[in-house]
Amino acid sequence: MTATRLLIVGPQGSGKGTQGVRIAATFGVLAVSTGDVFRAAVAAGTPLGEQVKAIIEAGDLVSDELTSAVVRDRLSQPDAAEGFLLDGYPRNVAQVMHLDEFLDGRDESIDAVIELDVPRDESISRLSLRAAEQGRTDDTEEVIANRLAIYERETAPILDVYRTRGVVDRIDGIGTLDEITDRIIAALEARGLVRAAAV
Ligand code: AMP
Repeated sequence: MTATRLLIVGPQGSGKGTQGVRIAATFGVLAVSTGDVFRAAVAAGTPLGEQVKAIIEAGDLVSDELTSAVVRDRLSQPDAAEGFLLDGYPRNVAQVMHLDEFLDGRDESIDAVIELDVPRDESISRLSLRAAEQGRTDDTEEVIANRLAIYERETAPILDVYRTRGVVDRIDGIGTLDEITDRIIAALEARGLVRAAAV
């Protein structure tokens, strides 16, 4: 069986976390969210958590070296053998290089990059709603604006890199959760990627 390696990219509030988990389950691969890894480390008070707490609360980016080391470590574990879906990484072009180097060393590559397309106004209103519901410390108005600006400046350019490789599927991120999941599955199947057998 061949492994499936996916990325999901979109602005904060695009629903990429939720869709990422669904798509990973559909294709039988491990979902890795770097934001979740960092938040769990902060909550558990580990040395990694201590290192990244203030950065996350300001909505800034953790260093590329540290983030890439965390991802390499996670993808080297046995439960990533069937493939993976990365949510929130790579976040800039330097991280794309780090990921390329890691995958090249294993003779692997990314099969598809799911770009979730959601207009800025919609992202902001979804994030404000989530802030009210979940009380995330990085969902205040000021921090939201910072995170979206970083997305536009640093993350959106990674899509151009992957576009030149012909692996990007741009998906309309407006609709119900199920509609969006179905769109993503259809795009990935059109690439010849195969769903995991139903359990
Ligand atoms: P997220 O849930 O993906 O929005 O991530 C929450 C926070 O974790 C971000 O605002 C960053 O501080 C940090 N973070 C997550 N992924 C990365 C990454 N690939 N590079 C740097 N920082 C990251």
